[in-house]
Amino acid sequence: MQEKRRFDVAVVGGGPAGLYAAWASAKRGVSVVVLEEDGEIGVPEHCAGLISISGLRRIELPTNASYVLNKVRGAWFFSPRGAAFRVVSDDAKAVVVDRVAFDKYLAKRAEEAGAEVWLKQRVKSLKLLENSALLKTSEDEVRAKVVIDAEGASRRLLKELRLAPRSSKFVAGLQCEAVGVEVDVDLVELHFGRGIAPGFFAWTIPIGEDSARLGLGCGAPRSTSFLNAFIKKRAPKARVVRKFGGPIITSGPIPKTYFRRLLVVGDAAGQVKPTTGGGVVLGCLCAKVAGEVAVESIERGDFSAEFLSRYEERWRKLLGRELDAMLMLRRVVNSLPDGALDLAFWLIKNFGVDQKLSEVGDIDFQSKAIRALLTGGLLAKQ
Ligand SMILES: Cc1cc2nc3c(=O)[nH]c(=O)nc-3n(C[C@H](O)[C@H](O)[C@H](O)COP(=O)(O)OP(=O)(O)OC[C@H]3O[C@@H](n4cnc5c(N)ncnc54)[C@H](O)[C@@H]3O)c2cc1C
Repeated sequence: MQEKRRFDVAVVGGGPAGLYAAWASAKRGVSVVVLEEDGEIGVPEHCAGLISISGLRRIELPTNASYVLNKVRGAWFFSPRGAAFRVVSDDAKAVVVDRVAFDKYLAKRAEEAGAEVWLKQRVKSLKLLENSALLKTSEDEVRAKVVIDAEGASRRLLKELRLAPRSSKFVAGLQCEAVGVEVDVDLVELHFGRGIAPGFFAWTIPIGEDSARLGLGCGAPRSTSFLNAFIKKRAPKARVVRKFGGPIITSGPIPKTYFRRLLVVGDAAGQVKPTTGGGVVLGCLCAKVAGEVAVESIERGDFSAEFLSRYEERWRKLLGRELDAMLMLRRVVNSLPDGALDLAFWLIKNFGVDQKLSEVGDIDFQSKAIRALLTGGLLAKQ
């Protein structure tokens, strides 16, 4: 084991949230280390890689970089019995990214801002001491003034510190990349139904003229058989190139994301859209706030929970109501039997709510669209 190294900020986890927080704090001149357990940034991959263009702009990332594989203008929504409506725009609304390249881009940017990114450094224990935080990894010991926990959905460290919530809901996310899939290269597809993807939905995300990511979130056992059945039904001639996946958080944020010397961001904090499972944009928006607050606490020499609570105040002001609205919609959709979902899709299509959604829809900030869906669109026609 090497001697203890000292940094202002130590970030646990080199996913998007951790790398973004590292960049946001390093560019303000403090010393930052990212400790990542895997040997390569972005690997293993688990994500479907659909990121809104407005979201990329909100987190100040390019929408035309080499990590972009495809651009889409909207989505088809399919009910359990196949009723469908489309939400579409004239312009591209989202990009499909190569997540390995995307994460590497974020790592390079953090390093260019002055952060160190250490690979194969699994943080095995974290002690929040009076004078500093002590992180023991498989290879090293690091001391830091502030720790940003961006360890992802596993929340192993939070559990060890007894700071993880007792109940949090995940669905199993499973997907494949396949060729020989008939797709509209401009549009993603979302398929709903208890027999298709109980507790979530299945997706087709085009990455090329005849290639796509087909996947689903599943809240029931035997998730692999649901994926196999979906592939067989949606793309019987597909040749699966690879399969990958991971847990998708659907229960919203954890109750508390700040502690003495510690901030929690990204999937670890539950900063994920409960409707779609998308966490890249929201995680990075919160990571920016975390990086800024970490630097403020270093400048003030105040690492108390009271001082760091401004992180939670700020990110909840930005996203709290949005996440509440999305959580409500997730609960409503999960409670509906397939017949009621079919009826809802029919109403959306026949009362012009799909048009309204095309006008007000924002992939990340969904409260306006949810209002249109649950009230405005239908009432406007009465
Ligand atoms: C199947 C699936 C599809 C998805 N599709 C989308 C999508 O289309 N769009 C979207 O926006 N989001 C999507 N998501 C969600 C998105 O992948 C996550 O929200 C996002 O990756 C969260 O970023 P993060 O940095 O918080 O966590 P992660 O990306 O999980 O990164 C955490 C990192 O911490 C490391 N780590 C963990 N513990 C330790 C430790 N003790 N020491 C050191 N390192 C550690 C891990 O190795 C990992 O690299 C999907 C998720 C799944 C599972």
